Amino acid sequence: MSETFLTHLECGACGASHEAAEPQTVCKKCEKPLLARYDLAAARRSLRPDAMAARGGGLWKWRELLPVRDDASVVTLGEGSTPLIPTRALGRKLRLARLFVKDEGQMPTGSFKARGLAVAISRAKELGIRRVALPSAGNAGAAAAAYGARAGLEVTVFVPKDTPVANVKETVAAGAVVHLVDGLITDAGRFVSAGVAEGKWFSLATLREPYRIEGKKTMGYELAEAFDWRLPDVVVYPTGGGTGLVGMWKAFEEMEALGWLRAAKRPRMISVQAEGCAPIVRAFDEGAEFARPFENAHTSASGLRVPSAIGDFLMLRAIRASGGCALAVSDEEMIAAMGEIARDEGLLVCPEGAACLVALQKLVARGQVGADESIVLFNTGTGLKYLELLP
Ligand SMILES: *Cc1c(COP(=O)(O)O)cnc(C)c1O
Ligand SMILES: [Zn+2]
Repeated sequence: MSETFLTHLECGACGASHEAAEPQTVCKKCEKPLLARYDLAAARRSLRPDAMAARGGGLWKWRELLPVRDDASVVTLGEGSTPLIPTRALGRKLRLARLFVKDEGQMPTGSFKARGLAVAISRAKELGIRRVALPSAGNAGAAAAAYGARAGLEVTVFVPKDTPVANVKETVAAGAVVHLVDGLITDAGRFVSAGVAEGKWFSLATLREPYRIEGKKTMGYELAEAFDWRLPDVVVYPTGGGTGLVGMWKAFEEMEALGWLRAAKRPRMISVQAEGCAPIVRAFDEGAEFARPFENAHTSASGLRVPSAIGDFLMLRAIRASGGCALAVSDEEMIAAMGEIARDEGLLVCPEGAACLVALQKLVARGQVGADESIVLFNTGTGLKYLELLP
């Protein structure tokens, strides 16, 4: 018996339908990302939000809305159900009554990338794929290596040569082959594509593979559950490839179709980038539909060093439809915020997560958030991987 309501894959740009029962990459017509579609009308008849809440924790509680058919294919390290931590000390300083941090630093492999790779590796295994490769800023490669080790897949990772050493070591420790690339994640991506053309491996590059986003969308389901099937007013998210932001937006859309939400209002999505690499912020400010590649991309927030992303138009669409915005913060501001969050709340966050606090401070200064609004900052990874940034 199938455990999923997955029906097919649909292009996020042109809408072309693709078969989900075989490995897929991008749209065969326009080469844009494919999104998994489910029979949500049938799911609505059999899944109730109170019953979902009663299932306990973990990413796989959303089983029917994830793309894996057979329980035997599930590869898990206990991912999902990260805490939503009230941060009252930070809130008091900003005069915000309902400020929270969703702490993805507590995930297996120390970042939210575990969500995407748990699902993508499980599905790859199910579809009979044996060898995978991906370009990574660090955390995705580490998560792919860990889940790949459990699944018995061969994993090859291409990372920029100045990727944080913790990421490289944990990836090697899990038995993956790591290549250090003299360049950025986009350059690393070219090595992966070349290997695909030679038949060496299947690419798990984000949004060039349809299922990582399915794992990441569970952050959206968890938010709804935590807020008793309403959604917070504001979500602040550090965006690189954009899979997290686009994934949560997809989850909100699915939950509306499932009839799970008590109120139709979705959060304003705030995309945070680094000043040294802010293609989405620039495109947002210019009113553009797509983002131009960002020149000389540099930032010590390695997860944000993504100069161009195939899902750019999906991010921009979600940000605009939500009434949100995109803003950039400096590395100095992020690193100072890491210290502030640790001192005030006891949370050692990654610079990408710290960037969200800086962005929120800017929104408060501009009067763009209300004192009683519920606000969630995403800490996408543990600060322990960035010891070199700490004093
Ligand atoms: C990958 C990564 C990001 C960016 O996430 P996307 O969903 O790809 O935009 C942010 N923070 C950290 C720590 C990351 O590893
Ligand atoms: Zn298409």
